[in-house]
Amino acid sequence: MIPTNVRKALLGAMLGASLLSACATAPVTGRQQLMLVSESDVVRMGSLAYRQELSQSRLNSNPQQVAQVRRVGQRIAQVANRPDYQWEFNVIDEPQSINAFALPGGKVAVYSGLLNLGLSDDELAAVIGHEVGHAIAQHSRERVSQQVGFDLALSVLAGGRVSPQTAQLINTAFGIGVGLPFERRQESEADLIGLDLMARAGYDPRAALSFWQKMMQATRGAGRPPELLSSHPSDQRRIRTIQAEIPRFMPIYERAKRASR
Ligand SMILES: [Zn+2]
Repeated sequence: MIPTNVRKALLGAMLGASLLSACATAPVTGRQQLMLVSESDVVRMGSLAYRQELSQSRLNSNPQQVAQVRRVGQRIAQVANRPDYQWEFNVIDEPQSINAFALPGGKVAVYSGLLNLGLSDDELAAVIGHEVGHAIAQHSRERVSQQVGFDLALSVLAGGRVSPQTAQLINTAFGIGVGLPFERRQESEADLIGLDLMARAGYDPRAALSFWQKMMQATRGAGRPPELLSSHPSDQRRIRTIQAEIPRFMPIYERAKRASR
């Protein structure tokens, strides 16, 4: 989901970051994560990468779209449990990009190509929830940790003389070289956290289904799938999984809706 140039800036800037070893637990799924770099380093880099991406883009030209993204985004941010994040929501004017991203520290952008699909607030909450899910589950930090761990492992191996087979093995072990923004398990995790966030913010989790269906329709017949879908081998399977998970988030949604009346 994160555009390649932003990812490169993030990884490049991380090279000088301090090393540490710590464990984290992803929200909602409770998955244990090994972290080799500090969260503050990743947040700092996220904010640099965000500024860089915004400075190269045409921004916020459609007031209606900006208002929708900020209205929905702020509600999602309120339930994300990260008061330390400096949340920011912008629209990047790129009609050909059906995409969105959230960087560590709460820096969120939605491309106008995605908004031009004509999303309801509930549907927009599905995609912002998914992206914020990546951010609060610290998937970038995990990814960078894997890269750092990979470099460490390489240097430990016989004076840098690593056979291509060994290098390939390490690559596979760390999930590097797959060319994907996030791993598939991180994508599924972001889907779940997204459902939780949208429900607690009072958005109907069932809109996640119509959102992904709209995405599939919009990208059908296109030469290649947009980044938002690229890490999923089967969109149908993703939609089935989301469909199966929705019932457990409905009571949360009903409660949030009652509380807001
Ligand atoms: Zn994703």
